[in-house]
Parts: sequence; structure tokens; C-alpha cells
Amino acid sequence: MVFTEIKQKNEKKYYYRVKSVRNKEKVEKQRVYLGANLSKEELKKREEAADKELLGIKQEIQQEKIYKESKEELPEQLNAKKENFPEWMSQILQLAGIIDNRYNIKSMFVWMPYGYDMMLRIKQFWDSEFKKNGIKEMYFPLMVPEEYAEQNDSWWQGFKNEGFWAGTKNKQEFIIRPTGEPAMYPMFSLWIRGLKDLPLKIYETVFSYRYETKQTRPLIRDREIGPWYEIHTCHATKEEAEQEIIIHKKINDKIWEYIAIQPLIVNKPKWEVFPGAEGAFEYYTLMPNGKVLENGSLNNLGQAYAKKFNIKFEDKDGKEKYVWQTCTGNGERYLAAVISIHGDDSGLVLPPNIAPIQIIIIPIYSEKNKKKIIEKAYELKNKLKDFRVEIDLKEESVGSKFYDSELKGIPIRIEFGEREFKSKNLTLLLRNIKKKISVEEKDLEEEIPNILKKIQEELLTNSKNELKSSIIETSEEKEIVKIVNKGKIAKVYWCESGSCYDKILKLGEGLDLFGSDIEKNKEGKCIICGKKTANKGYVANSY
Ligand SMILES: [Zn+2]
Repeated sequence: MVFTEIKQKNEKKYYYRVKSVRNKEKVEKQRVYLGANLSKEELKKREEAADKELLGIKQEIQQEKIYKESKEELPEQLNAKKENFPEWMSQILQLAGIIDNRYNIKSMFVWMPYGYDMMLRIKQFWDSEFKKNGIKEMYFPLMVPEEYAEQNDSWWQGFKNEGFWAGTKNKQEFIIRPTGEPAMYPMFSLWIRGLKDLPLKIYETVFSYRYETKQTRPLIRDREIGPWYEIHTCHATKEEAEQEIIIHKKINDKIWEYIAIQPLIVNKPKWEVFPGAEGAFEYYTLMPNGKVLENGSLNNLGQAYAKKFNIKFEDKDGKEKYVWQTCTGNGERYLAAVISIHGDDSGLVLPPNIAPIQIIIIPIYSEKNKKKIIEKAYELKNKLKDFRVEIDLKEESVGSKFYDSELKGIPIRIEFGEREFKSKNLTLLLRNIKKKISVEEKDLEEEIPNILKKIQEELLTNSKNELKSSIIETSEEKEIVKIVNKGKIAKVYWCESGSCYDKILKLGEGLDLFGSDIEKNKEGKCIICGKKTANKGYVANSY
């Protein structure tokens, strides 16, 4: 690398050479003797080459400086997740543009584009899975007439005063949908007449409304709940309804895998299922504050509701029989789990499947090389047109773009400056592990799908490991509180009796025996009464 301008001294020709001293972050010109006479053309060529080289090195050094500064200038806005989870959660929802919680009705918020995009990607997935399994989408009105709602009297007593009402200013006539069944089931009883009308398998994705009196938290406990799906099915036999529950469980397991979360599935204690129902599976996710959050349920309703809403069919034997029903629902809490379980102190960490932006290209340039770097960034974007890619061209410092990309949890960040331009080696930051890797530009299209797949898998594995290490088995009564106080879940033999249940809850404040293992275990002794049982229960703090 020999170059430029020329001093004549004692007939010798000296040229400048550009020397870069990278570790000191500077470039200097050094005078060297080249000896031979060079032609004017040759000199000019070398001069140009030298200028280009010098500029390139300067830009690379600039890029290094930007990297360094970007680390130093990160604003310390977020709370540490583990130390103050509720505060972290409410900050991240606002800062990352998931929701705007400043809407002036308590516990009703605005879904912002970035957050709604993620939510709708989860919805798209459930839509396709439901339809694949013959569950058809419908829509029922938001307002429910009182005579529909009061058909389920025990339920109605609870909801009457905790619902939102609508009508004219002077007369409140209708309750606003707190849940699907009071709108749906009176219609089911009109539609179902005979075996030809069964099975009936439908769902709707809507918002539901409850006047929550407990402490509200966005995406976790709201007064406007949603988007939220409810699947409702009716069958001719008990066995068919049981089969349907298995299908719903499989679908749910797929949704969880899609969003890279491992939940805990339990059998609900029998006194917590709907009166008259056969049973229920419930999903729970362990939040970073050590509390378990109910995250969807699969209910085998038996004939309890059919009897209340008079949903009957004429069977083969000519007799009128009540249908067997199931209902399954969940919604925004899927996203709450993704945000809180995968996020870290720098922001969101999104599974590529639902990330609104999977790859962000951050061009690093100065005025001099701006044009060529941006052009190249578009070229890269074009190569990756099968993915959700954006180029960050905001008039902001590179440091704040880095910060923003981490806050938003974008799975891959491509940092593209002079160095990458020259070397044809791209620098990728993987958000989930916060590590940089280098990928040759020519391999980019081939590598990106593998990297995204790996990120998706790593997140699911992390979630599986975290849940596994959070469940601690014990046979010592006094250990339960200790385990729960560490933010973990205690797993204990429990005989399923109400009296032992009550005794477990009384061991410590806020304890919840939220369900039982869905697998039957080897027989052991109930942690309270010592009676033989194959059932294990889970105890934790809950929302
Ligand atoms: Zn017992």
C-alpha cells in the first residue's frame, strides 16, 4: 500500500504511505522512499488509491468509535427485570411501542402497531390451526340481552354487577360481552336439532369486558380483554367431547411452541371447574416475579351448560338428549408470557416467528460514504425479501439505533459500515444471546433462515429449562413456603381432598395450589395427611 505525493530531495522521490495504527484508533501518513521514477499517470492512480484507502480506514475507525460510544451512551431507562418485574413490564410495554397505557379509562389501553402486529401474528397462527381442525370462525354481537345471560343463573349473579352495561342514557338494557357463552348458547339451542347438526365446532376472536375489581395490569388483567379467542364445541357423546379436548390441547401445545414458551399444564382442582363440568386443563406460565399466571384453559363442560341453555338433539334412538360441550380460550396472555419470560434488562427478546421486524439493517456512515453504504443496505434488504427486514434510516445516532433495536427485541441486527463494505463480511448481532457473529455476504441468504430457526429453538429451550429448574419436588411440609418464597413452584404429593388443600394454602400467605400433574405418578404419601396417592399438586404464588 504505497502512495501519494512526492517530495523531491536530492533527486530521490519520496512518497507518502498511509499507515493505520488501529489499536490507537488513528491513521497517519508516513514518508517512504520508493526509488524509481513513476509516470504521471501511475502517480495519479496511486494518489487516488491512497485517498480512497485513507478515507476507508478513517471510516472504519469512525465505525469502531461509534460501536464504543453506543455502548457507553445507552440510556439507563429500563428497570432490572428480576428486581422489579411489574415496573419493568409496564415500562417495556410503553417504551417498545406495544401499547399506550395513557388512555383515560382505567385498564383500557391502545394497541400500538408494533404490539398489535405481534398479537395478530399469534392470532394468524391460531386461526390457521383451528381451521385445519374443522373449527369455524364466527362473530357474535358485543351486547348480550339480559334474558340470555340469566339462563345461567349462578354465573349471572357474579357477572351482573361486574359487567359493563349498555343501552340509552336512561336505561341500561344489555350487558357487554364478559365472555362468549351467554351470547352463543341460546343460539346453539336454536341451531341444533338432530345428529346432522353435530358436532358443532366454532370459535370467535373478540374483546371481552369485565369490571375488574382486582389490581389490573395490561395484558395480564384488563377490563377490556383481548384479542381473545373462544372455541365452543357441541357433541353427541361424552367420548367425542373428550376427544375434542385432546385436539384442543394439541393445538395449544403448537401455539406455545410457535411462540417459544413452555407452559405448565395442570388439572384444575374439581371445585374450581364450572359447576357440573367434567373437568378442565389449565395452562400456567411462571412470571419473573415468581408468580404463576393462568394462561388459557380447556374445559370439558359435560352437559352442565346444555341443561341450562336447553341445547338438545334427537339421537338415533329417537330420544332427545343434551349435547356434550367443550370450551377453550386464551389470547393476549400468550403475548404477556413472551414479553415477560424472554425479555431482559435491555428490552424485549422476540421469537422470530412473531417478531414484526426479524432483521434490522443499521447502516453506519459519514457524509462521505453515506450514499454507497445506504445503497448497499438496500441491496442487502432485497436479498432478504423473504423475511421481515427494515433499514433504520432515522436521523439519529447509531448508538440510539442500536439501543432501539435491542429495546424492540429484533432478533437479528446487521451492522453495516465501511468495514463490512470492504471485507464483504457482515456483522450480525443476535439479540437473544447478545453476541456478534460474522457472516460472509455471499452466504447471507442461505444463512439467515438457519440463524432465525436457531434463535427460535434456543428461546424455546431456555423457556423449557427455566420451567424445569423452577419446579422443585418436596415431601417436607415446611419446605413448601421456602420454595415458593424463592419464586419457584413446589411439587408435592396431595390426596386431592379439600381439607388437605386448605391446610396447604394456610402454610403461607398468598399460596395457591393451582392444579395437579396431568400424569399419574408412582404412589406416594400426601404431604399433609400421609394418605396414599398418585396425585401431585403444584403450589406457588399466583396472580
Ligand atoms: Zn391429604
